[in-house]
Amino acid sequence: MHRKTIVAANWKMNGDVSLINEMTDALNTISISENQQVIICPPAPYLGALTQANTNARVAVGAQNINEQLKGALTGEVSALMLKDLSVQYVIVGHSERRSLFAETSGLVADKAKQALAQGLTPIVCIGESEDEREQGQTEQVLSEQLAPVLSALDNDELTDVVFAYEPVWAIGTGKTASAEMAQQTHRFIREFIAATDSDAADKVAILYGGSVNAGNYQELFAQPDIDGGLIGGASLKVEEFKTICLAE
Ligand code: PEP
Repeated sequence: MHRKTIVAANWKMNGDVSLINEMTDALNTISISENQQVIICPPAPYLGALTQANTNARVAVGAQNINEQLKGALTGEVSALMLKDLSVQYVIVGHSERRSLFAETSGLVADKAKQALAQGLTPIVCIGESEDEREQGQTEQVLSEQLAPVLSALDNDELTDVVFAYEPVWAIGTGKTASAEMAQQTHRFIREFIAATDSDAADKVAILYGGSVNAGNYQELFAQPDIDGGLIGGASLKVEEFKTICLAE
C-alpha cells in the first residue's frame, strides 16, 4: 500500500512572527506533490497568523497540544473546538515532553486523540521508549502500553484518521538518531500491533519517525517501508533545511 509521506514540524516553544513569515514564504514557493503532506505545528499563539500566511494547499497547520475538554474554567488551555474554528487540521498529542514534564498518561493521550477526532482534527499520537527502557529490552512492552488505550478508545473507522509518530525519547533533540534499520523494525512492530486491532487501518495509517531527523538522514529513514515521514523538531526551525526535507517523496 502506498501511503502519503508526511513531514510535520514541531516548533515546540520556539519561533516567532518572523519565522512564521519566512517559513510560509519559503513553502509557498515550492511544489509539494499530492503524495506528500507538510504540517507546521507552531506554538498556540501563532496558529492564527500561520493559517493566514499559509497559502500552499499542501501545507497544513497543526497545534502541539489540546485539552481533552471542549470548553470551561480551564485557564490557559486550548480546545479542539477552538483549533477547528481557526482551520487548524492536526494536533500533536502525547509528545514525550508532555508525558514527562506535564505528567500526561496514555489514558489522557487517548482522551485527547478521541476529542480531536470528534472535532474533525487529525491527532498525531506520539509514542516512544526511553534510553533505559530500550537498554532493558522493554521497547515493545512500553510501546504496547502507550498504544493500547488509544486503540481501545477509538472506533475502527476513527483509527484510519490517526497519524502515529514513533519518537524514541533518547533520540529527541540529542543528535542521536535511531538507525534506519532499528527504526524500521520498531515501526513494523507498531504496525503489527495496530493490525491486531484492525488490519485494514494498520495498512492505511501513517507512522512517522521522530528524533533528530535532519537534511542529512531523512532520506534513508523515509525510504523504509513502514516509515511514512517524520515529526521534526530542531531542523524544522531552519527554513532551508526544513524546505529540503519537505520535498521528500
Ligand atoms: C520532537 O520533539 O518531536 C523531535 C523529533 O525533536 P528533534 O527533531 O529536535 O529531535
